[in-house]
Amino acid sequence: MKNSLKLSPNETGFFGKYGGQIIPPTLKPIFTEIAEAYHEAQSDPEFRREYEELLKNYVGRPSPLYYARNLSEKLGGAKIYLKREDLNHTGAHKINHTLGEALLAKRMGKTKLLAETGAGQHGVALATAAALVGLACEIHMGEIDVLKQHPNVIRMQLLGAKVVTVKSGGRCLKDAVDSAFEAFVQDPQNIFFGIGSVVGPHPFPMMVRDFQSVVGKEAREQILEKEHRLPDYLVACVGGGSNAIGLFHEFLDDTEVKIIGVEPSGRSFKPGDHAATITLGTPGNIHGMFTYLLQDDKGEPLAVHSVASGLDYPGVGPVHSDLKDQGRVVYETINDKEALQAFLDLSKIEGIIPALESSHALAQVFRLAPQLTSDKIIIVNLSGRGDKDIDYIADILKL
Ligand SMILES: *Cc1c(COP(=O)(O)O)cnc(C)c1O
Repeated sequence: MKNSLKLSPNETGFFGKYGGQIIPPTLKPIFTEIAEAYHEAQSDPEFRREYEELLKNYVGRPSPLYYARNLSEKLGGAKIYLKREDLNHTGAHKINHTLGEALLAKRMGKTKLLAETGAGQHGVALATAAALVGLACEIHMGEIDVLKQHPNVIRMQLLGAKVVTVKSGGRCLKDAVDSAFEAFVQDPQNIFFGIGSVVGPHPFPMMVRDFQSVVGKEAREQILEKEHRLPDYLVACVGGGSNAIGLFHEFLDDTEVKIIGVEPSGRSFKPGDHAATITLGTPGNIHGMFTYLLQDDKGEPLAVHSVASGLDYPGVGPVHSDLKDQGRVVYETINDKEALQAFLDLSKIEGIIPALESSHALAQVFRLAPQLTSDKIIIVNLSGRGDKDIDYIADILKL
């Protein structure tokens, strides 16, 4: 019998040859403890009931699967459905896994959630979950990002989180990762490192995938109810890859469904100008995992760029590396300009302002839909709303 692509990674956290726990031996017990606690929580009906209850009444799930009639007619091809993760509490898909992480941390007797954040979206989602569940929260952020993303800093503070401004190195995301990790290893007994995507050492790529897979479970039921069949295409943007695998997971064994992940090609395909990790990277080690990576000849991560700060990451979740090698998911690229255009178009055509990250997936749909006949169906993951991006857009458009 053919293996299901929905299987979990093996005991040591490998999806095919990708993933693992590439961490110092002293930290192994910490991550093994998290893996065991997660395993136990998953088989506890009370844990699942509490998580599901929060998804429903706190996050506002299920999120609608909206038939974008105007957009479909305008593009003149396939029928386009938007999975409305932008309507979740806090405005994106990230709350699906930060709530899961917070509940698990609390169950394990941890007292503090800790993470780094770039643009602040992950920090806000984690601080929200910490406030709800009743844990302390500490978010490390580069000084440049603190200045650029001031509203998110205020949000985190209002939610009761301590924001640590990182003044070392380039004062951006990479330095925040180092700083957060240093703080974590001071007290790993009491601190839970709340990783923001399907990345990092095992069990995070599996655990975050599981928490996000609610997106595809709902979408599958919703499309069967509306169209009485599965979609022809799924499309989602890929930064670390959590919203994408969240939508894809439930459909992986339905081989008639074509699946497309969209990476940012930024300003150009030159190193430093993009974050198209799977398209242009090679396998290597980053942040505790073996995966596709944009790296120099010494194995150091390269600088990356995307107009969407949430896609600005030189690695990618190991599950995507495996799905690429297996050929189950096709990875395409969209550049800054195309994403900006999709951002503006969706706002005008449907009255929905999408996140710049999600706009990459939309731009791919703008390219694909007109090539298809009107009996074809596309589901695109609208991973978040664009309110956070409007100052930046106003600057570009001189509004
Ligand atoms: C963070 C973010 C992303 C990218 O993260 P993934 O783990 O790749 O999903 C995409 N969309 C939005 C709205 C985000 O906030």
